[in-house]
Amino acid sequence: MKQELTYRCEICNTVYNNKEICEKCEKNHHMPRDIESCRYRPITCNQAGYPDRITVVFDNGELITYKRG
Ligand SMILES: [Zn+2]
Repeated sequence: MKQELTYRCEICNTVYNNKEICEKCEKNHHMPRDIESCRYRPITCNQAGYPDRITVVFDNGELITYKRG
């Protein structure tokens, strides 16, 4: 029986057999640093009260906008 060593990306939980590719996967993920802005809809459109759009600042300064599905 042969024991195999695997590596798990701590960010996306993907399992790799190759340590270098796993390290690349972890370094490739950008971490959110702050929320730049949120767009809320009035109670007549959205009674849940959650924002339908959020712009996030990432660790490299990039701004990415996410929309609620
Ligand atoms: Zn990953």
